[in-house]
Amino acid sequence: MKTIGLIGGMSWESTTTYYTRLNEEARRRYGGLSSAEILLRSVDFARIVAIQKRGAWDEAADEMIGLARSLERGGADMVLICTNTMHKLADAVEAAISVPLLHIADAVSVAVKAGGFKRPLLLATQYTMEQDFYLGRMRKRHGLSALVPASADDRRLVHSVIFDELCRGIVRDSARAAFQAVMETGRKAGADCVILGCTEIGLLISQKDTDLPVFDSTVLHADAALDLAMAD
Ligand code: GLU
Repeated sequence: MKTIGLIGGMSWESTTTYYTRLNEEARRRYGGLSSAEILLRSVDFARIVAIQKRGAWDEAADEMIGLARSLERGGADMVLICTNTMHKLADAVEAAISVPLLHIADAVSVAVKAGGFKRPLLLATQYTMEQDFYLGRMRKRHGLSALVPASADDRRLVHSVIFDELCRGIVRDSARAAFQAVMETGRKAGADCVILGCTEIGLLISQKDTDLPVFDSTVLHADAALDLAMAD
């Protein structure tokens, strides 16, 4: 089995989901005492958020590259950046290492297309919803034209629930209801499914909370890593 390298801690609330999913899925697929070979580098998220807020993306790229290289040196056969947002820097990270970087938007897009969906609603941080690094990849590489919440207030709300609640381990019914309203607005605007495009949203929303088919980026990213780890 190949070793899965995780750049985690962004936030650690969702890194635990990766760790659990990888191991549960290894057991489900292979039975007995099977579990995943994992190398985890978990960072202080407060430091990363400060860099994001300053818009110091070159510094963030250096940081991600350093982390990815340390995983590769430590024996990782692949690297996952365990946050959608920091995939803004994925191209730079990919170019700096010689093992594969598994891109989260690819894992999600493959699953959306396999389900026969074409018009996903992307719920994510404002960085991910309002810049092109993620939407553009889905469009150019996978032919998916995703929607984001049309209202700036809705996008701000999703972003603030992520940083002010979910990344701090706070899961509130009020936030769930607000997300349900945003998803319903998206459905009326033509979305045929919803992407939980932030690794913490799965802590709040699951399939029972909406009629739209749900694609959880965290779970799909972890499963793609396990597919590759078990490939031969
Ligand atoms: N975990 C979140 C994501 O998937 C946000 C954390 C971050 O800003 O990196 O985008």
